[in-house]
Amino acid sequence: MNCIVCNEPMVVLELDEVEIDHCLACGGTWLDSGELEAILENPREVREMLGEMAKGAAHKRSDRNCPICLKKMEYVTVGKSVEVRLDKCPQGHGLWFDKGELEQILHLFDTDRHSKVHGLLREMFKNK
Ligand SMILES: [Zn+2]
Ligand SMILES: [Zn+2]
Repeated sequence: MNCIVCNEPMVVLELDEVEIDHCLACGGTWLDSGELEAILENPREVREMLGEMAKGAAHKRSDRNCPICLKKMEYVTVGKSVEVRLDKCPQGHGLWFDKGELEQILHLFDTDRHSKVHGLLREMFKNK
């Protein structure tokens, strides 16, 4: 899969047994549908987050295309105090996180900072 932002080939990283596509050039990350749920450990958090996303789906067109169906994605915003704007495939193939956004999401939902996922994310984004 090539990066939807800079078109560089993406690397596949394993994050807590979930394979995610990550672009080393721009720091962006693509999560297939369901992978976010797999990374976030707390089902309640996931439900909250998906609820937020449904509310935030304002059908604003993103200028990016879904790497799977190549359709234009939509912006969704998540969070109250800090808003994170993600790109979401209108057909539900997945979500695009720009550099640092995945970390912001995990902080928003206050996942355990000492969890394995946070450690892996620190690894992923260090020196970036
Ligand atoms: Zn990129
Ligand atoms: Zn799609």
